Amino acid sequence: MNKYEVLVNKENYVDKEFYKKFKLIEVKNFENEIIKIENKTYKEFLKLKNKVFKKENIKIHILNSFRDFEEQERICKEYVEFYGEDLAYKLAAIPGTSEHHTGLAIDITVDKNDGKFAETNEELYDENQRFLIVHKYLAKYGFILRYPSDKTEITKYNYEPWHIRFIGKRIANKCFNEKICLEEYYDKYIIKK
Ligand SMILES: [Zn+2]
Repeated sequence: MNKYEVLVNKENYVDKEFYKKFKLIEVKNFENEIIKIENKTYKEFLKLKNKVFKKENIKIHILNSFRDFEEQERICKEYVEFYGEDLAYKLAAIPGTSEHHTGLAIDITVDKNDGKFAETNEELYDENQRFLIVHKYLAKYGFILRYPSDKTEITKYNYEPWHIRFIGKRIANKCFNEKICLEEYYDKYIIKK
C-alpha cells in the first residue's frame, strides 16, 4: 500500500506529523485565500476541473483542503456549541480522524456561473444535480466520493457531496465500479495483520 492509499476515519487516526509524508503546496481557494493541498492531488484536481468544465460547463472550485490539528479543534468546538455534541461529531471529525490532515481531501463547490452558494430548495436541488455529474468523473482522475449517501452506516458520516479524496486511479476505479466506499474496499482487499 502506498501513502496515498491511507485510510483515515473515526477508528484509524493519523498523528500530527502525518502530513510530512506529502509535499504540500500553497494555492488559492474559491475565496482567494491561500490554502495548502498535496501536490499530486492538486495536479489531478486541475485535470478533473478542466474536463468537467469542458464537458459539462460546471465550474469546480476548491473550498479547502489541508487542515492542521489546531484548526480541526477549533471547528469541533464551534460545532459542539452550535449543534450539540451528538450531531457535532457526525458533522465534524475529531482531530486526527479527519482526512483533511493529509492534504489528500478537498471540499469543492460546483458553480453554475456566479459562484454564490445555493440557498433556496431549487438551488440546492440544482447544486446536488451538478455534484452528481461531477461524481461520475472522479475515478478517472484518482478521486473518490468519500461519504456517499448510501454508505452513511459504514462511513459514519452524513452524505457529503462536496468532499472528495485523492487515492489514486487503481482504488478509485475499484470503488467506483463496485460501488463501494473506502472502508468496504479495505475490508475486502486489504489483508489485516
Ligand atoms: Zn471535507
